[in-house]
Amino acid sequence: MTSAPEQLELAGLPRPLFAATPSKLANFDCPRRYRLTYLQRPAPPKGPPWAHNTVGAVVHLALARWWQLELARRTPQAGSAMVIRSWQHDGFADREQSEAWREQAAHWVAGYLADEAERGDPHREPRGVERTVATRTDRLAISGRVDRIDERDGELVIVDYKTGRSRLDADDARGSLALALYAVAAESTLHQRCRRVELHHLPTGEVAAFEHTEQTLSQHLNRAGETATDILAATDTVAGGAEPEQVFAPVPGPSCSWCDFRRLCPEGQASSRPRASWDGLGLLDSSQP
Ligand code: SF4
Repeated sequence: MTSAPEQLELAGLPRPLFAATPSKLANFDCPRRYRLTYLQRPAPPKGPPWAHNTVGAVVHLALARWWQLELARRTPQAGSAMVIRSWQHDGFADREQSEAWREQAAHWVAGYLADEAERGDPHREPRGVERTVATRTDRLAISGRVDRIDERDGELVIVDYKTGRSRLDADDARGSLALALYAVAAESTLHQRCRRVELHHLPTGEVAAFEHTEQTLSQHLNRAGETATDILAATDTVAGGAEPEQVFAPVPGPSCSWCDFRRLCPEGQASSRPRASWDGLGLLDSSQP
C-alpha cells in the first residue's frame, strides 16, 4: 500500500494551497487516522457503520428536506414524518432498537421545529441549506458544507445541528474551528458579513451562540494554517523517504473506541475498549420521551 501525495508540487511553481475542510483538519488530531483516511491508497476499509452516526445523519437529512417543502407544509409534524421516511437501520442492534430511536429522533425534530417557529419568523427562508461555502487564505483553500445559513438583520448566521448528549454553551460555539471557518467561507461565498455562529441542540432545543470578531476569526484561521503546515511537513518528510508509520504517529486515547480504524491500530486497541456499533447511542440524549 502507498501513501498518496497530499499536494503535487511542480518544480519552479509555487506550492498549491492546502485543500482544507474542518473535518480534515480535525482528523489530524491523530496523524495515523489522518493518513489512513486521506493518504493511504488504496484506502483501508472502515469498520461497520455506527448507529449514533445513523441517527445524526437522518436528523440532518430530514431537516434539510423539510426546508425544501413549500411554506404551508413546513410543520413540526412534517419534520417528524421526514425522519420516519428517511430512516436507516445501519448500526443498530436489532429492528426494535432501531425503531425506538427512529421515534426518538422524530420527537426531537418535531420539538426543535416547534421551538424554531417560536424563535423567529417561520416563513423566513434560509440563505442556504446544506450549502457548500469556500474561501482562500495565503496557505489554505477552505471549503465546507453548512447545515443552514440564516440571514438576520442583514447579516449571515451559521447554524449547525447537534444531536449529542452534552449540553452546549457559548464556549462550544466560540471554540469550534468548523463554525469559524464556515463563517469566513460563507461571507466570502455569499458576499455578506457573517459573524454569528450557532449550535442548535436537537435533544433540548437549546441554542448556543457566539458573535465572532475579526480577531477571533483570525485566531481560528491561524490555527487552521498551523495544522495544515504540520500536515504538509509530515507529508514532505514521508516523500523524502521517512517511514509513514513513524511520521504519522498514532495518538491513542479513550476516544479510540470510536475510531473507524481501531482494528488496524494496536496502540488504539491497547488504550481503549472495543464497542458495539450501537454503543454510541449512549452518547445521545434519550431523556426526551
Ligand atoms: S485507533 Fe486511536 S490511535 Fe489508532 S488511528 Fe484511531 S484514533 Fe489514532
